[in-house]
Amino acid sequence: MSETDSKPIVLLIDDSVDVHRLVKARLRSEPYGIISASNADEGVAFATEQMPTLILLDLDMPGCDGFETLRRLKADSKLCNIAVIIVSGIENSADKVTAFDLGAVDYVCKPIDFGELRARIRSALRTQQLLSLLATRAEVDGLTGLGNRQQFNRRWEQEVSAFQRYGTPLSMIICDIDHFKKINDSFGHPAGDEVLQGFGKVITQSIRATDVACRFGGEEFVVIMPHTGAADAQIVAERIRESLSAVTFPRHPEHRVTVSIGVAGLSGLLPGLTKERWVEFADKALYSAKHGGRNRVVIADMQAGAPTLTPAKAG
Ligand code: GH3
Ligand code: MG
Ligand code: MG
Repeated sequence: MSETDSKPIVLLIDDSVDVHRLVKARLRSEPYGIISASNADEGVAFATEQMPTLILLDLDMPGCDGFETLRRLKADSKLCNIAVIIVSGIENSADKVTAFDLGAVDYVCKPIDFGELRARIRSALRTQQLLSLLATRAEVDGLTGLGNRQQFNRRWEQEVSAFQRYGTPLSMIICDIDHFKKINDSFGHPAGDEVLQGFGKVITQSIRATDVACRFGGEEFVVIMPHTGAADAQIVAERIRESLSAVTFPRHPEHRVTVSIGVAGLSGLLPGLTKERWVEFADKALYSAKHGGRNRVVIADMQAGAPTLTPAKAG
C-alpha cells in the first residue's frame, strides 16, 4: 500500500468484478488510492485496517446489502466519520432518502457517469479534509499550540485504557507556573502570555514525540507519557523545571520564572485506579510541591496513596 500512504484512500465495496475493474481504470489518474472489497464483511474489515477517507458503497449485494453495511459502518465509533457515497443501480427516491438518513453523503446511479463520480468524490474529499482540520483545531490551544483540555481528556482516556489492557508503564505530570499572577501584575498580560508560550516550547523541547503535552487551563500544563514509569517521568519533569528556570524573557530579563510539578506514574496495574483518581494523585503531588516551597518536583506514591516529596532542588 506504499503508493497510497500519503494519498487519501477510497474503498470500493461492490460485489461486481466488472465495476471494480472499471472504477480502477477510470479513476486511475485521480489523486487518491483505491482499494477493493467484494462484500460487506471484507469492506468493514478493510475499513478498520486501512481507515479510508471515503467509501463507495454498492446497495445491491448478496448477503449483507449496502443499507445494512452502512448501518454497520455508522454504528462503529472508529468508522462512523468515514464519508460514504452510495453507488447504486437502483434509481429510486425512497432508497436515496433511506441512504441519506442512514448517513451517506452522496448517491450516484449506475451506469456510472465517471465525470460526475470523479467530481462527487473530489467534493466529498474536500469536505472530509475540512472536517479533519476543524477536529484538529478544536483540540489545539490557540496561545501555545499545544493540545487543549479536550485533547488531554481524549488522549488520557485512550492511554489509561491501553495501560489497563496491556499494563505497560504510564505517567503524567502536571506543571503550574509559580507566582504567575505576579508576572501579569508586574509586567502586563502580554508578558504573561509570552511566559506561557515560552513554557510551552520548554515542554515540547523536553519530551519525546510520543508524549502528549497539553495546556490544562490558565498556567497549568499536563504531559502524558506513555511507556514511561514514575522514575523516568521525574527525570523529564526535572529537565522541564531546570530548563524553564534558565530561560530569559526579553520583557523581564531580570525576573526568572519557575514551575512546580507533580508526577504520577505506574509501571504496573493498580486495582481500582480510575483515570480521574490518577489525575488527583498528580494534582496532590503538585500541591505538595507548592507547599514545599515551589520550583520543585514531587512524585505521588500511588501505592501508598499519599504524595511523597522528592529532595528539594530549588535554586
Ligand atoms: P502559584 O505559585 O500558587 O501557582 O501562584 P500563581 O500566581 O501562579 O497562581 P494563581 O492561580 O493565583 O494565578 C494564576 C493567574 O494566571 C491568574 C490569571 O489571571 C492568570 N492567567 C490565566 N490564564 C492566562 C492567560 O491566558 N494569559 C495570561 N497572561 N494570564 C493568565
Ligand atoms: Mg494555578
Ligand atoms: Mg501558578
